[in-house]
Amino acid sequence: MQLPTQFEDSMKAALGGEYDAFRTALELDPQVSIRTNPRKFPTLSEGDRVPWCATGQYLDKRPSFTLDPLLHAGCYYVQEASSMFVEQVFRQFINTEAPVVLDLCAAPGGKSTHLASLLDGKGWLVSNEVMRNRVNILRENLIKWGAPNVTVTSNDPADFGQLTGLFDLILVDAPCSGEGMFRKDEKAMEEWSPENVRFCAERQRRILADVFPALAEGGILIFSTCTFNEEEDEHNARWIADELGAELLQVKTEPAWNVTETDAGYHFYPHKTRGEGFFLSALRKTKEEPTFKKKRKRENKVALPAPAKDLTKWLNEPMYLTPHNDVIYAVPAEYAELSLTLTEQLHVLQSGVEVAAVKGKDLIPAQHLALSWALRKDAFPTVDLSWQEAMTYLKKENLMLPNDAPKGYLLLTYRSVPLGWVKNLGNRCNNLHTQEWRIRMQVDGCEFKDFLGI
Ligand code: SAM
Repeated sequence: MQLPTQFEDSMKAALGGEYDAFRTALELDPQVSIRTNPRKFPTLSEGDRVPWCATGQYLDKRPSFTLDPLLHAGCYYVQEASSMFVEQVFRQFINTEAPVVLDLCAAPGGKSTHLASLLDGKGWLVSNEVMRNRVNILRENLIKWGAPNVTVTSNDPADFGQLTGLFDLILVDAPCSGEGMFRKDEKAMEEWSPENVRFCAERQRRILADVFPALAEGGILIFSTCTFNEEEDEHNARWIADELGAELLQVKTEPAWNVTETDAGYHFYPHKTRGEGFFLSALRKTKEEPTFKKKRKRENKVALPAPAKDLTKWLNEPMYLTPHNDVIYAVPAEYAELSLTLTEQLHVLQSGVEVAAVKGKDLIPAQHLALSWALRKDAFPTVDLSWQEAMTYLKKENLMLPNDAPKGYLLLTYRSVPLGWVKNLGNRCNNLHTQEWRIRMQVDGCEFKDFLGI
């Protein structure tokens, strides 16, 4: 690996005698790790755990994840281990029972799915991605993860400035020069230059200044990057404290984790910790902030179409149902007002759970519902699929069901975890898997070994 000379010089200056070990680590294969979804999948008791994340697990090698139906069912997320350190800030500093959280730079959704698990159905998560070409993958990953208390938005950071003091926690996982990704992503190395570092540092300040008013006084800001240099990391963390009005927080770590603490944050270096390069700084807002005035509670003016009246029997908790065109969405009742407010203020792609589409007298269950924690498991007959059948379903090909399978909408599961719907017509069935999500890879002749061993 040919590193840019100026990058090498700056790392030598930062690491001193540790530089050779750092340089050697960059030539090693990246670590492979996953984070499991406790709502869908037992937390693994055995194995090589990521020490700072209760649901993080290292794998010996990279399996063909596409061949695992459990990935498509949202049972785990393939995530770089260092990034899972966000959990420590959440656990150590978020004391509110039901926090309102914003993940500002969220695609493809590693940290948003993690935050959704940490919230565990309480509070609310706004998961935002400004780049329109990246927001669909964010939405897909969050739907598969299944948390019902999420709004997915695509807004510029400045659009959040109007929601003053709304959030108890804001995560800014900022676009950066990506030095910590060099061994995973050659492009990051090709694009590196001191000018780009400066450009990224300035852009980060703009993003931080734009979103800062949306953080409540006393609220927590997590600023993270996957880069090593001070200009983007410590300088900006101190700038938040001094210029925006916050205090830097000390996150407790175990010596065995080998995390490198500085006066303004925490570095993960690949020669010391098992994972890619990462930096995180946690701050508490000290600046006074008037709270965003939520509008008065409104009544749901749009009547539900007749077939949707008893949709609640598909849900495992009381939820507020709203129609939008012919699609019915459900939001946990206590967050209906917040969800509505967000829809009025932001460019919302989805809020809550898409439950069903109304077609004449028929209700077609939505893919989102199949994967959501809000689905009442006994609301539909289920058919558990073999691996081969699950692949056929996920490729959106014709599936043969057992002769005694009931007619109508059936929930397909793999190892008892929901994958999606079919409509069984008797002599054949319609595969209702989402067209854009279908597996395009050739799977004939492939074998899948269940690497999680459950
Ligand atoms: N948090 C994500 C995760 O854990 O999966 C990774 C986020 S990535 C480091 C940074 C994100 O910031 C990218 O998705 C990128 O599209 C977005 N971004 C780029 N320019 C931005 C800007 N000016 N304002 C806000 N976000 C931006």
